[in-house]
Amino acid sequence: MSTDITRRLDAARTAAAEAGVDALLVTPGADLRYLTGFVAMPLERLTCLVLPVEGDPTLVLPRLELAMALEAGVDDHGIVLHGWGETEDPFAAAAAPLAGARRVAVDDHMWAERVFAFRRAVPDAEQVLAGPVLRRLRLRKTPGEVEALREAGAAIDRVHARVGEWLRPGRTEREVGRDIAEAILAEGHESVEFVIVGSGPNSASPHAEVSDRVIEPGDAVVVDIGGVMPSGYCSDSTRTYVAAGTPSSELVAFYEVLQRAQEEQCAYARPGVTAESVDAVGRDIIAAAGYGKHFLHRTGHGIGLETHEEPYIVSGNDLVLEPGMAFSIEPGIYFDGVQGARIEDIVVTTDDGLERLNLRPRDLVVLD
Ligand code: ZN
Ligand code: ZN
Ligand code: ZN
Repeated sequence: MSTDITRRLDAARTAAAEAGVDALLVTPGADLRYLTGFVAMPLERLTCLVLPVEGDPTLVLPRLELAMALEAGVDDHGIVLHGWGETEDPFAAAAAPLAGARRVAVDDHMWAERVFAFRRAVPDAEQVLAGPVLRRLRLRKTPGEVEALREAGAAIDRVHARVGEWLRPGRTEREVGRDIAEAILAEGHESVEFVIVGSGPNSASPHAEVSDRVIEPGDAVVVDIGGVMPSGYCSDSTRTYVAAGTPSSELVAFYEVLQRAQEEQCAYARPGVTAESVDAVGRDIIAAAGYGKHFLHRTGHGIGLETHEEPYIVSGNDLVLEPGMAFSIEPGIYFDGVQGARIEDIVVTTDDGLERLNLRPRDLVVLD
């Protein structure tokens, strides 16, 4: 990762210069991990990467955290470490390399109190958001990042492969969800991000989580799960199950359309096409079958160090896909109060097509 980090810092500098920004200020979160490899806790004490276009990057952090940063090898990438003592003003320390800066970019998720403190510490500089500067970098995954996402995909696939161990009529969504959460960790994730087990009418609610509803034979059960790997990269995959019994003929009929839509979207998506056209390919198939108003949400979202990031696969996004973009393709069909289904794979664009990172069968999974 060492060379990756150095390359990212250089690319961020170049992007900042092109945007007319003199320095980036990045506090704990995905951007900081991306640029330094350092996983910093979002503490009340300031940790901030100061990345000037000219000059060395400095990581200002509480002196108490210095050993952790050294252990993480942050200084291997040419980043100067400045551990601040309890009585020192960390904003002044961070502002020291910024003398003469006319425009500084703060990370999109910086706490408002810090944005204001930096405004006071660098009063002559205009503040802008770093998101648009870093966007281009984070949108295109390197081979190392793709490998990390591949590992995340394989880990969540192993959980889906085991869902039959837990999903049975007579159990509640919450009980099943608890077992799945344990398995997400057991299969190699560092943390559980979300567990959706939506059964029967709850399967028609795209952002249902778990409830005390008892699962019945023949229910559609949408299982949408994801976690964060030790690498920091996220998984996210959905399959729709039937917990024993016979699915309704309606479910079988609309599931066939859904599966075809998802398949066609995966066959279509590649560098050179727009994000919104990937959405349209699936939406047209679902609409032609008469289910158009039942596909309630966008087709997908980007994924990387965050579960939801750019690119969003949604009508109105005319972003042209490029190699190395990772995102979900997750159409769904939902009948409010009755039942629904969703199929979700994470995919990454290659030089001329697309690789799926979730490889479990996409048929309606009828457990017995
Ligand atoms: Zn969502
Ligand atoms: Zn999902
Ligand atoms: Zn998703």
